[in-house]
Amino acid sequence: MKTLLPFTRPTIDEETIQAVAEVLRSGWLASGPKVAELEAALSRYLGGRPVRTQTSATAGLEMALRACGIGEGDEVITPALSFVATANVIVRVGARPVFVDVGLDSRNIDLDQAEAAITARTRAILPVHFAGLPVDMDRLYALAGRHELRVIEDAAHAIGSAWGGRRIGSFGDLVCFSFHPNKNITTIEGGAISGGSPEELEAIELHRWHGQVRSAADQFDTLLAGGKANLSDVAAAVGLGQLRHLEQFNARRRELAARYFELWSDTPPVRLPERGDAGHSWHVFTPLLPLERLRISRLQFMEAMKERGIGVGVHYPAIHLFTAYRALGYREGQFPNAERIGRETVTLPLFPAMELTDVDRVVETATEILRGARR
Ligand SMILES: *Cc1c(COP(=O)(O)O)cnc(C)c1O
Repeated sequence: MKTLLPFTRPTIDEETIQAVAEVLRSGWLASGPKVAELEAALSRYLGGRPVRTQTSATAGLEMALRACGIGEGDEVITPALSFVATANVIVRVGARPVFVDVGLDSRNIDLDQAEAAITARTRAILPVHFAGLPVDMDRLYALAGRHELRVIEDAAHAIGSAWGGRRIGSFGDLVCFSFHPNKNITTIEGGAISGGSPEELEAIELHRWHGQVRSAADQFDTLLAGGKANLSDVAAAVGLGQLRHLEQFNARRRELAARYFELWSDTPPVRLPERGDAGHSWHVFTPLLPLERLRISRLQFMEAMKERGIGVGVHYPAIHLFTAYRALGYREGQFPNAERIGRETVTLPLFPAMELTDVDRVVETATEILRGARR
């Protein structure tokens, strides 16, 4: 069998491996100079906004909600289609996730439905820039402004994305990035929040490290029962090595995505995602399978691809149909696009180390399997 082409794989250069070895030898492994350096570099990349790193985007999203004072009795509007972390954090702070549907091709939150879902309890909107395709930022912030809502952007897919030439994270309220190994750049595990008012930033720092402040070398106070989600210098050294390549990685992702569109420009056997513009950072390439016209299931398609040496993922099932969310009263039929995407979506290989000929092979293989499986 050919070596498997995975649907994603991080690219780590030798310089980064060396930088990690240096941190390991330095005697300082937890949050220290490398974390400060990474936060400064991310801040420069994001137009000088304040940036605070965390051990994950999940931790970042949760502390962003807490920093906005969101908790018991509050509602947060969020898409029914995302990684489950987007909704879990809302539940974890004691608030209620109010789901709305997404665009079938954009996978992004339907802003008309978001506006219609606002109640007296709504405190924030938590949209996702799905696959790195920015949500309509003009409409989003106009809506939030009209209703005095805070926006917490789940930008886990969107480092390097731009709206109207402005980078996601260089404007807006609180913008949360992920540096999980599958994302466009990695710190192994990690995340960062860009933006926030001075009060929110202080709260984020407290939630990130035990709620502690130090007024002198021997004087500590704990202002709130904070958690612990500070990034390590080892992770930050990886992040610094990655950030240097971010523009090049994303340029490559755009080329690979363009190749998929080119090869499938004429009667594609799948439903292609919205193409976006140069501001799309192509975290994942996620077409839909026309299951009602196929004799095979999605699982059988994935297995057939794997047999031919190609890894396929699923991003994502609809969140409201998970047991934990049905328990909150959500049910089948409420968000048809999210449900259809959840059933039909497949994630095809897309990562910077891929060759254009890898895309050719994926397209050829998938087309052959799907044509052979037509009803
Ligand atoms: C990956 C991801 C997260 C969580 O990121 P972690 O850094 O793994 O906690 C949140 N939201 C979305 C949309 C994601 O894809």
